[in-house]
Amino acid sequence: MINESLIQETLEKAEKADFSHVRSVLAKALEMKGLTPAEIAVLAGISDPGLLAELFETAKTVKTNIYGRRLVLFAPLYISNLCRNECLYCAFRARNKEVKRRALSQPEIAREIEILVEQGHKRVLVVAGESYPRQGFQYVLDAIQTVYETKRGNGEVRRVNANIAPLTTEEFKLLKGAQIGTYQLFQETYHRDTYRRVHVAGQKADYDWRVTAMDRAMEAGIDDVGIGVLFGLCDWRFELLAMMQHIRHLEEKFGVGPHTISVPRLEPATGSDMATHPPKPVSDIDFRKIVAILRLAVPYTGIIMSTRETPNMRRETFAMGVSQISAGSRTNPGGYAEGEEVIDESQFCLGDHRGLDEVIYDAASLGYIPSFCTGCYRLGRTGADFMDLAKPGLIKEHCDPNALSTFLEYLLDYASEKTRAAGEALIEKVLGEMNETARTRSKAMLEKIRAGRRDVFC
Ligand code: SAM
Ligand code: SF4
Repeated sequence: MINESLIQETLEKAEKADFSHVRSVLAKALEMKGLTPAEIAVLAGISDPGLLAELFETAKTVKTNIYGRRLVLFAPLYISNLCRNECLYCAFRARNKEVKRRALSQPEIAREIEILVEQGHKRVLVVAGESYPRQGFQYVLDAIQTVYETKRGNGEVRRVNANIAPLTTEEFKLLKGAQIGTYQLFQETYHRDTYRRVHVAGQKADYDWRVTAMDRAMEAGIDDVGIGVLFGLCDWRFELLAMMQHIRHLEEKFGVGPHTISVPRLEPATGSDMATHPPKPVSDIDFRKIVAILRLAVPYTGIIMSTRETPNMRRETFAMGVSQISAGSRTNPGGYAEGEEVIDESQFCLGDHRGLDEVIYDAASLGYIPSFCTGCYRLGRTGADFMDLAKPGLIKEHCDPNALSTFLEYLLDYASEKTRAAGEALIEKVLGEMNETARTRSKAMLEKIRAGRRDVFC
């Protein structure tokens, strides 16, 4: 699936690209049909500040054309930090004695969800280390059921995604049966030798078991999968091209690529020298380049930005391609109930410590529509069906109205006064700029929400 020598060759050839070659790639990117590996390598090689500005502008244009101003919000839910693997960059690695181990009970999971729902969250990403309490994998299935069953006031979690260790096809079928939304898994690095050096014990040391996980997930019927690279382990240019090979493989085999791409960057973690001193650190400017290039390379695939990054970096990358963000996150099991960030139970240090309301106020003030939409998944618009709808831009006719209706739910049920005022003004502005079909649809949905209905989607 991953051809390392082809990647090196492609990167070397791209070194010869001149200004006009770069500009021709940017012009092609504006057609929003994606880019070839050779073209991606050309963009990865940009160093001239003027060309860099053109790259960022092109990414902004494509992002706005396809996604408009929506920004989907979610919260991670760390259910357990037990782990039998030894990933040298992670605080949860088995031999790390500096982290207190904890697997939440089902009532504790319900408590975490009540708190997230009270904040206004509707989408949760379940995260766990690779070792489960005595129930084994059933523990994860029970946790997902607990999340879906927990209600609070007007709210509930409507979509559970999961970032858990690779499963067998049979286990993936059970995960699908538990109503999972997206199955997310990061390869960390596609470079085999680097992979071997940073994963020194446990099942995760098996590169092939991990790189084939999405094949098993899709064979089991999970058609929304999310991939990612942990940036900082190996040369990011290599990782980008390898990720494209992974995507092409899934497209060829299953007719659809990943639903999302995540771009975690190594952050300091308790008990990890590697996390503090990444082998191949990615600078802030290169990080922006990664987001912009991904936006052009796979224009219809969502890009997820977590709270690993600072508010400033998050703001800048919203404009260039990010379509989903986490907010108000805790990366220690039980962290929402405890309130404070507990570093010696957390997976890594956060870059954005703001609460959900503050993130929403900030996003709305910048003109983005915070969205808690779960419509596509619940109407069966997943996998290839989603892509068929997304590609001609029709998704805007569903996404914008759904974004507004879930945003209004948030404003009425959970927002601070300041956020409510900013949000209501934004809704008016967005309605004024919509096309006739979307405006009519949106107005009808918003009226229902104001009249007390909840969970209205199209
Ligand atoms: N244990 C499962 C696994 O490794 O795939 C899933 C959960 S793991 C907690 C989620 C992700 O956290 C990993 O895939 C890795 O990319 C990321 N991660 C680990 N250590 C990190 C660090 N120091 N900084 C940023 N991200 C980190
Ligand atoms: Fe365990 Fe995942 Fe952390 Fe590796 S990255 S030590 S598998 S929790």
